[in-house]
Amino acid sequence: MGSKLRPRKKQKTGSKLTSQTTEPNSTGFASLPPELLFEIISYLPPRSPVPYHLPHDPTRGTNHSRQAIIRALVQLCRSFRRSLIHYLWEEIILCSFRDVRRNVTTDPNHTCAFERRGSCYTCERYLAFEIVAQLEVVTIRVPEYAAFVQVLSIFLPKYSEKTIVPEFARCLTLLPNLKTLQLFYNTYGDIVERTIADVFSQYRYENVQTLAIPGKAGSKTVLKACPNVRHVHFASYGMFFRGPDAFPDVEKLTGVLPHLYDLRIQDSMPNLKYVQVRTQKPLFARLAYARIQELAQLPQLEVIEIALMKPEAIKEARELYEAALSLLSRLPKVSGISRRVDVCDYTAQS
Ligand SMILES: [Zn+2]
Repeated sequence: MGSKLRPRKKQKTGSKLTSQTTEPNSTGFASLPPELLFEIISYLPPRSPVPYHLPHDPTRGTNHSRQAIIRALVQLCRSFRRSLIHYLWEEIILCSFRDVRRNVTTDPNHTCAFERRGSCYTCERYLAFEIVAQLEVVTIRVPEYAAFVQVLSIFLPKYSEKTIVPEFARCLTLLPNLKTLQLFYNTYGDIVERTIADVFSQYRYENVQTLAIPGKAGSKTVLKACPNVRHVHFASYGMFFRGPDAFPDVEKLTGVLPHLYDLRIQDSMPNLKYVQVRTQKPLFARLAYARIQELAQLPQLEVIEIALMKPEAIKEARELYEAALSLLSRLPKVSGISRRVDVCDYTAQS
């Protein structure tokens, strides 16, 4: 993915491009006025969705067609490169094991152990090198690219985690416009999780507004490191809300909500306005129904989203919709707030 996506050789000369000595290309495609160039860009495929609305599954591939097109355009000529290079670096995505496997070309017969064991030495080693290589480009080789990066979607591997995780956490401080951070890590054993908890407690990332994290205890440190996060997405199940920590600025909560008995959102996220409830195991219908009743503890609540995660869930979605509507109507009236229930179909995403 990364090695194919990023035109590395040219990046080395990236800083020189601004002080070019030759005339820019002024004929043909490159002579188009900026308005037309932006019109062309508007037809690009959208950025990869972050957070993923599917359950945590790094074995799925991500959609790289947008970056592939931008990479081709950037390599077309100097004018295009100058105009479009920031689109190429606005998101760094290194989280899909399916993508990684495509790039583990040193061993074409690679039998990936990730799906069986939840860990694969070869792929995680590749990921580790890619993470370092791409962060090196935007922080050391061409530091002016650092301001382009808005989205980071990363699987932090077990390989060399004592080096990779601290370096990753440090590099995040060098990205002034990072708005969205999606982290995955190996949830088998707790080696990476422990390192994450240790390392992230030393940093503050003031600009991050959307945070997608596994629902593990280690993720809480990451959440605390991002004091201005408005939207929290749990990519997997099980994070404990118990404890003294409160996140009063969080307004939106999506993904897999924690166990029912750990759901203390009225204490930890009292100002939630938007909560997603999924029609999927482990949130099967009765549990989801109970979850909706618990939302009565959130006086600021404006939107309940019923997320359809499996095609056969239409019937239970209807029941949940009724329950959510009834709950919202019972909340105390607040002037200027109109409450609603959204039903979103995520079954077609893959
Ligand atoms: Zn593998």
